[in-house]
Amino acid sequence: MISVFGSANMDLVAYVDQAPKRGETVTGRMFRTVPGGKGANQAIAAARAGTEVSFLGAVGDDAFGAEIRDTLAVAGVNVERLRQVPGPSGIAHIVVDDDGGNSIIVVPGANGQVTAPSEEERAVIAASASVLLQLELPMRAVVGAARAAREAGVPAVLTPAPAQPLPDELLDAVALIVPNEHEAAAITGAADPGEALSRLLERVPEVVITLGSEGALYGSRSGERLRVPAVRVEAVDTTAAGDTFVGALAVARAEGRPAEEALRFASVAAALSVQREGASTSMPSRAEIDAAL
Ligand code: ADP
Repeated sequence: MISVFGSANMDLVAYVDQAPKRGETVTGRMFRTVPGGKGANQAIAAARAGTEVSFLGAVGDDAFGAEIRDTLAVAGVNVERLRQVPGPSGIAHIVVDDDGGNSIIVVPGANGQVTAPSEEERAVIAASASVLLQLELPMRAVVGAARAAREAGVPAVLTPAPAQPLPDELLDAVALIVPNEHEAAAITGAADPGEALSRLLERVPEVVITLGSEGALYGSRSGERLRVPAVRVEAVDTTAAGDTFVGALAVARAEGRPAEEALRFASVAAALSVQREGASTSMPSRAEIDAAL
């Protein structure tokens, strides 16, 4: 079983020809609501890639909260420990314009009320093959979860997004960090991914830097270094490629696959996801990943 201690949002997506300027009103072409948030996306990716997943986090007491919970449950994610807190669920208000550019407002809502894990949540983390963390919850909650994992001897896998300064107490408790190249550069100050990898390995025992259509770099303190090419595909929508990658990577590692095989499994899953629109709606099933391997 894998646990995810992370964010769950409702994405409110409006499609327009041109985003409105201040004081302006425009008529949009389409609107949809899609459950998202990096935590929920990684949980769904891992569940679809073929493992039991427990989601730890919070939704509000509004209709969005109920819909987020249902979506996770339908995807096969265990939501028994997903808390409901008073107030609104987290939302991401997204405006997509005709050029495919977007502007996003995130209001954390219930995600902002998540604190360090409770006794029950610590027990779930302790029983996991790994715990997946991102930075869309309050930092002290993420640090608490990483420490709970380390104390239980469970590897914590951190996606350091959105990019922000990382406290030592977090890096000290993480077993594997998976930034994309922009996040890796922001954290280390090194624009070159190979250099960023070396710098991150001074802080964390294992590092994967994802490079979009260029694949991924892997390094471990034992000296292993790998470059895994991306699968060549026609990308339609790369939203949540990184979350699909991390969810699938965690599944392959939980199955005991060696690094190269696990990275290949993750790359294949992510490549399948970029060929379809959306986030959670684009994540491949285990059967699809196995067929494409
Ligand atoms: P993020 O979504 O976090 O920015 P990346 O863009 O680096 O992360 O993508 C994560 C992984 O998804 C990559 O390492 C790669 O395996 C896969 N991927 C992303 N974009 C493509 C693409 N255009 N074609 C094939 N695979 C892709």
